[in-house]
Amino acid sequence: MAQPDDFRQAKGFSEAALAGMLAREVPPTPENYAVWFAYATGLLPELKRTIDILISNDQEFTPALNVELYSRFCDTGRHFNLLNETGGRLQYAVDQITRYLKSASGDASAFGKTLDQYSSEMGGTPGDEDVRALVSGLILETQRMAERNRSLEDRLNASSGEIAELRQNLEVVRREAMTDALTGIPNRKFFESRLREAARDAMESGEPLSLLIADIDHFKQFNDTYGHQLGDQVLRLVARTLTDSVKGRDTPARYGGEEFAIILPQTRLTDAVGLANQIRHTITRRRIVRKNTGDVFGTITLSIGVSCYRPGEQLLQTVRRADDALYQAKRTGRNRVVCEDELAAADRE
Ligand code: GH3
Ligand code: MG
Ligand code: MG
Repeated sequence: MAQPDDFRQAKGFSEAALAGMLAREVPPTPENYAVWFAYATGLLPELKRTIDILISNDQEFTPALNVELYSRFCDTGRHFNLLNETGGRLQYAVDQITRYLKSASGDASAFGKTLDQYSSEMGGTPGDEDVRALVSGLILETQRMAERNRSLEDRLNASSGEIAELRQNLEVVRREAMTDALTGIPNRKFFESRLREAARDAMESGEPLSLLIADIDHFKQFNDTYGHQLGDQVLRLVARTLTDSVKGRDTPARYGGEEFAIILPQTRLTDAVGLANQIRHTITRRRIVRKNTGDVFGTITLSIGVSCYRPGEQLLQTVRRADDALYQAKRTGRNRVVCEDELAAADRE
């Protein structure tokens, strides 16, 4: 997040942040301060929207909520720290291995020298005593060498365990960076890279590639009526419904606040429209239930726009046609699916 560097402006944000926290009895800890300062600047639109809803619903800023706000919107350091730590530990593990290997090669050459020495001592005609001394000397040296090899093996095993753990760390960071924290489905960043990949595949194979963009209808009103937390539950429900409605090669993602997208490789426009309608029906049948009381709230509906990638075009255009179709679905009554074919020619300009 860009920070204001003008003293007067920053002071204004700082005062507003503190006043906001004190008014809602939010403890002014560094983490909470980061949240409320960002809120005052308005530089994080999703954070601003979320806090606005919480305030307009008069919701209490409980410690759990404060922690959630911080980790969802402001804790950018987590990945950075994990990456930094992983990098440092990886370097250490590699240094250790290099040291072990150097010492092992030192041991091996020392062993070789010892053998040379014994063989030159054997130069004359050795007596029984000499042979006995020689053999027990060799056995001792060999045992020592075997002992050193064992300890080297143990150390290498420990290092390779450490490296496996670090690889897992990196995998966690990679997955988290691509996942939407609230719903657990891919985020927009992942969506964009997957869409590029799918378009490349579609160009190569000549298979169709379709795109759905869905937006929850009147969701602001839902939040205003039932509260932000129930709103979040709805977002999770929609994400789950999308995931359950598609096949393994399809990618559902959270595209924005209450907007979702699905990438549908090897899918023709008409089939994509069929799937969109099926999802829309499933959503209208779902009941939103308040977990602690079991109260049933009304239903929610989705408007969905559908487009199909035209090989060679910029992906922005594919997305835009789905967006335009979605907009038309909103304009023409909501709880509808509109396909790019239905867009008036003028709308495409
Ligand atoms: P429309 O039918 O035209 O889409 O109306 P709408 O109210 O859904 O659309 P609008 O863009 O006016 O408002 C979107 C609302 O989505 C605003 C905000 O209350 C809600 N929203 C966005 N992100 C989140 C979130 O992470 N959690 C919750 N609970 N609500 C969110
Ligand atoms: Mg929207
Ligand atoms: Mg909406």
